[in-house]
Amino acid sequence: MAVFQAIHYICNPFLKRSLKPQQSYELQFIGLKEGKHEMDWSIGYDLFEDRQAEEIIDTHLLTHLSIEKKERLMNLYFEIDGTVKVNCDRCGESFDFQLSTENELVVRFANETDFSDDDVIFLDDSKYKVDLSQHLYEFVMTALPRRRIHDDGECNEEVLNLLDGEEEETNENEIDPRWEALKKLKN
Ligand SMILES: [Zn+2]
Repeated sequence: MAVFQAIHYICNPFLKRSLKPQQSYELQFIGLKEGKHEMDWSIGYDLFEDRQAEEIIDTHLLTHLSIEKKERLMNLYFEIDGTVKVNCDRCGESFDFQLSTENELVVRFANETDFSDDDVIFLDDSKYKVDLSQHLYEFVMTALPRRRIHDDGECNEEVLNLLDGEEEETNENEIDPRWEALKKLKN
């Protein structure tokens, strides 16, 4: 019987798909009692792949989510930690950038909407879950510095030497204006 179940599981395309579930970043708050709650989520690479963030090569990120649920609102605190694989802006080789960031969001249960504050999500009474994927994506992207480089001494030396050589070459062709003036004086 177990063998038949296994074959059925493998052959059924619906079940096969469920072997590789799409990561969800939805917070279901229905049934969540008022008070404090904690949960851990892993932030998958799919979040960046779906948004064509091509500079992100891979991710190993976890977010610890603390929820404070009140009658008409929820305070959400996110502590995101882990690594983001990016290319170094100095030597071009990929490396794991250490990322650590804390963010807050407020979910208000109200029919009125005020879009002036990006940190507040308004939900009407018919909603029982909230998709946090775009927020998580933005938290990570804004925590990344514009210039991402290896720690000192960890760059690919060969590439750096090559780049140094190129810089010297271009500098040689440009004559410092002070030397130019001196040359004229000598003549
Ligand atoms: Zn580097």
